[in-house]
Amino acid sequence: MNFKTICVSALLAFSIFSSAADEQYAASDTSVLGAHEHGKALLMLVVDGNEMQLALQSAAQTIVGFEQKASTAEQIAEIAAAIEVFNRGEWFQFNADANCEVTAAETNTDLLDAKFNRGHADFYANYQLLCQQPARLKQLDLQLFSLLPSLQQLQVQWVINGRQGAADANLNNSTIRF
Ligand SMILES: [Zn+2]
Repeated sequence: MNFKTICVSALLAFSIFSSAADEQYAASDTSVLGAHEHGKALLMLVVDGNEMQLALQSAAQTIVGFEQKASTAEQIAEIAAAIEVFNRGEWFQFNADANCEVTAAETNTDLLDAKFNRGHADFYANYQLLCQQPARLKQLDLQLFSLLPSLQQLQVQWVINGRQGAADANLNNSTIRF
């Protein structure tokens, strides 16, 4: 198994886990390891060579304050504003000498899914970055907590060129060290 396979597997495992947890949540109203818990969010980081993928998943409640299908112009505007903020990708910073740059960003939410009717909705912000010095990746600073006052905990999981780790961040401890 090469690095690419490992990383793709890690991402797949993560997304399969997330959708399984969603289904379980819908069925039993319980959540697994923070998947769709209001006030908590998940951040998955995978570095393969000098390419990084960053995937944030959060309950819509934590981001825009509601999870029912947007019905007012104000709610639609709030969703659009949140998507714009996340697409800007300015809520995270890696230590500068790793020299990482966002090359693509895409934010989605169940709230914009025409078939959405689950009663719970998530936001998904996905980023691709290019890091010139991935071996120097040491630290991730998160400004997510000032952006989202109702976010209490961010679970961060990473696979950096085969090296795995996990840590929780919160308002008072918003720097992750790999
Ligand atoms: Zn919810």
